Amino acid sequence: MEWERVLLFACQAGMLQRVLESSATYAGQRVQFGQQIAKFQSVSNKIANMRVSMELARLAVYKTAWLKDRGKRAALESSITKLFVSESLKAACLDAVQIHGAYGFSREYPVERELRDSIAATIYSGSSEVQRNIISRLSGC
Ligand SMILES: Cc1cc2nc3c(=O)[nH]c(=O)nc-3n(C[C@H](O)[C@H](O)[C@H](O)COP(=O)(O)OP(=O)(O)OC[C@H]3O[C@@H](n4cnc5c(N)ncnc54)[C@H](O)[C@@H]3O)c2cc1C
Repeated sequence: MEWERVLLFACQAGMLQRVLESSATYAGQRVQFGQQIAKFQSVSNKIANMRVSMELARLAVYKTAWLKDRGKRAALESSITKLFVSESLKAACLDAVQIHGAYGFSREYPVERELRDSIAATIYSGSSEVQRNIISRLSGC
């Protein structure tokens, strides 16, 4: 499970990057009220949050992979990585749907599928609740 939680969630960290890039591109192209929606701070703040999550998700994946590469145990790190990447991805996908407006809800864009996939990522390989159980136990609770 330590390997699974870093390898699967390396893919989800990549998906987080794709969601960030496609949302930033869309926000730069979509014009409403005479300006790109990216110029609205409430939209650009969502992009900023995605960027922060993406950078931290990568660091979590790299740290856990680095430990596993050296044959070390990484139960705590792999649970933290799994929980952080999947919950960050779900939050980013919800924001991506919001940025895309009605297109985010339709099948014309991949955003609605990405949201469904992101929800699954909080369930498989041990749900977020189970990761929190592991993290609290390994933190002395
Ligand atoms: C897309 C997808 C792919 C999957 N792929 C695989 C696979 O390849 N191999 C495989 O073996 N399984 C796979 N699964 C199954 C997955 O591991 C389980 O769905 C998951 O472990 C949750 O089990 P459950 O669905 O029985 O929900 P339940 O265990 O019934 O959980 C329901 C709710 O109760 C919570 N809960 C349950 N137990 C606890 C607890 N001890 N503490 C706190 N909260 C708890 C859960 O977090 C959840 O919110 C996949 C699931 C999905 C959605």
